Amino acid sequence: MADLVIIGGGIMGLWAAYHAEKAGIDTLLIDRAAPGGGTSNGLLGALMAYMPDQWDEKKQFQFEALVALEQQIRVLEAETGIATGYRRAGRIMPLYNDRQVKTARLREDAAAQNWRIGERRFDWTVIETPPLPGWPGKDENALAYVHETLAAHVFPRGVVAALTAFLRSARHVRIMQASVAGIDVMARRIRLSDGQGVGFGKVIVSAGVEAFSLLQPLWAPEGQPLGRPVKGQAALLQADCDPALPIMFDNGLYVIAHEGGRVAVGSTSEDEFDDAFATDDRLETLIAAARVAIPALQDAPVIERWAGLRPRGVHREPMIGAIEGVPDVVALGGGFKTSFAIAGRLAAHAIALVSDNTPALQELPAIYNPGIYLQRANRKTK
Ligand SMILES: Cc1cc2nc3c(=O)[nH]c(=O)nc-3n(C[C@H](O)[C@H](O)[C@H](O)COP(=O)(O)OP(=O)(O)OC[C@H]3O[C@@H](n4cnc5c(N)ncnc54)[C@H](O)[C@@H]3O)c2cc1C
Repeated sequence: MADLVIIGGGIMGLWAAYHAEKAGIDTLLIDRAAPGGGTSNGLLGALMAYMPDQWDEKKQFQFEALVALEQQIRVLEAETGIATGYRRAGRIMPLYNDRQVKTARLREDAAAQNWRIGERRFDWTVIETPPLPGWPGKDENALAYVHETLAAHVFPRGVVAALTAFLRSARHVRIMQASVAGIDVMARRIRLSDGQGVGFGKVIVSAGVEAFSLLQPLWAPEGQPLGRPVKGQAALLQADCDPALPIMFDNGLYVIAHEGGRVAVGSTSEDEFDDAFATDDRLETLIAAARVAIPALQDAPVIERWAGLRPRGVHREPMIGAIEGVPDVVALGGGFKTSFAIAGRLAAHAIALVSDNTPALQELPAIYNPGIYLQRANRKTK
């Protein structure tokens, strides 16, 4: 029995356990493997904002989360002595046609207006040539480039290692290795695959792609999936590139220089796949494109190829909140491509929802509400 059970120790569940420890909540974190071994065990770690125009509450929330993460990570690093590779290095994006350049120029003003908080301001600038030679290299087809200073990156395994180390010396959080088969809300028990059970006061479901199938029987009509896995592949190359270099983002291709002479290249986005964790020629195509774009990667050896499953909800947004009609169960998932940017803040909200003592935080964007998920799922099956 635990006052709080957290199912799944990926980036979402680990941050939830971190905040639970700080709030002094008796917590059991259950993961079928070692925490952090799921999709959060990846290589990229891009922390990028939405476009600065057409501003709304979702963009504002994510912007504030991105800014706040910097300090949150510094605290975590100081608490654990583990470096996460966090850098607010910015982002560079080539533009290939007049329409893209025109739109990008309009966004300069939008960023000046929306990417500001207190004294801090972040720029979105259209420039003729990349700020640093070779990152990316000269491309005759590129008319201009966006250089923005809000984006940051982190080495995913660094964050996961730091959070796990923090929890190893926690006083209120225990970690249990077990596979969860289901949640029995009436009996207030988590059913484990080995037939055993664990009692709970409250439960946070942060099981990545499996959060959808664990929550579905509690709450959504049969046959209505709440989300699906989207496979992604990435690679790590060995090259002596400065981690202060901006993320290079070009039409789905990410190149991110991490500490220690490692450069991450990603990512595919696959709705259909046979083997979730195999890598194939789709990744080789991306690696080849990265070698063309960044001269320093031309002969860089590949030191790891990796694939994982992103949790994508029926819409692209995270799913976070209490579930109507299902007492004491909180969803924390659906982070899809942006979990690392917002997990710390979303998890703080999840803990505020399950705790009587934690002060309520600012409202979450309505679109994150699990009820909206259900409405969308309903609409899709009609
Ligand atoms: C190639 C690729 C590149 C990406 N790049 C980025 C990026 O640059 N920036 C970014 O923010 N995001 C990125 N993502 C997405 C990001 O990795 C995910 O959104 C994030 O890791 C999801 O975290 P999670 O905690 O929800 O799930 P996970 O990390 O998958 O954690 C879920 C945990 O639950 C456990 N679990 C599942 N089912 C059960 C069960 N029944 N019982 C017990 N335990 C269970 C699993 O073992 C796992 O540890 C990328 C993903 C991929 C694949």
